[in-house]
Amino acid sequence: MRDIKTWSTPVIHEQKQRVPCILCGSDSFEPALDCEGFSYVRCRVCSLVQQNPQPRREAIEARYGDHSSQAYLEYELANEGAFLTLQQKGLADGGFFELEPDILRQQAEPPLVLDIGCATGALLEWLRDRGWDCLGVELCGPAADYARKVRNLNIITGTIESAKLSDNSVTVALASHVIEHVNNPKTFVSEIYRCLKVGGYFYITTPNIDGFQARLFGSRWRSAIFDHLYLFSKKTLRALLEDAGFIVEKTVSWGGLARGTAPGPIKNMADRLAKQFNWGDVVLMRCRKVSAQ
Ligand SMILES: [Zn+2]
Repeated sequence: MRDIKTWSTPVIHEQKQRVPCILCGSDSFEPALDCEGFSYVRCRVCSLVQQNPQPRREAIEARYGDHSSQAYLEYELANEGAFLTLQQKGLADGGFFELEPDILRQQAEPPLVLDIGCATGALLEWLRDRGWDCLGVELCGPAADYARKVRNLNIITGTIESAKLSDNSVTVALASHVIEHVNNPKTFVSEIYRCLKVGGYFYITTPNIDGFQARLFGSRWRSAIFDHLYLFSKKTLRALLEDAGFIVEKTVSWGGLARGTAPGPIKNMADRLAKQFNWGDVVLMRCRKVSAQ
């Protein structure tokens, strides 16, 4: 498998604004990572790392939904097999396949799985074949069209906020490598909580600033990129999810060293250790909505 490059196209003329910490509301920050043309700060109260000032919501939505969206579709198509494999491994680590048989058996109708930021719909197509009713939300118009036309999937073009899904309608929600891109992770998570059924699950995956690679590479870390507005640790991600009402049931992380940065045996050992000690480069949390509130 070839290396997976993260898609990021710097946009020069975006307007930026200062925002209070999205997690705790504080406006007291210290410098965290100084990257080329942008930087991250760390909240002195809750330790969340965020770009600040950061581009406005309209600019962010234009990045994926407007001028560069054809390039984004091409990037997704080129990588969709590799991304699907990673998502399947993540679901396995998060215990999805132990839960799935009961969920599919208990319902008279196929249960609804929602993939937020579903790109070309490869994961949804695979889940549909396993017996799920599938819905995708995707901001990039050409990627959403591709998922509809080529895969015959039900896709809403837009964001989880603009999709305005019904309360208590979704059995499992998935968001892989999306939350670090959005302006307001708090409303993102709250919207998912609202549309989940009581007892429903949310699987969220994002780069881990607690991980070994982030500590090793600092501002050269592969996830410290222009498109990532927030860089979560296990602590700040858990706090965000719990504030929305979720119970975090499981936390796993993976990825010790990136391909090409160390000889094979060292990389394999680093990958094993990262998973064992939970300082992997990417973190997944499985959380659950256990009450109607
Ligand atoms: Zn804070």
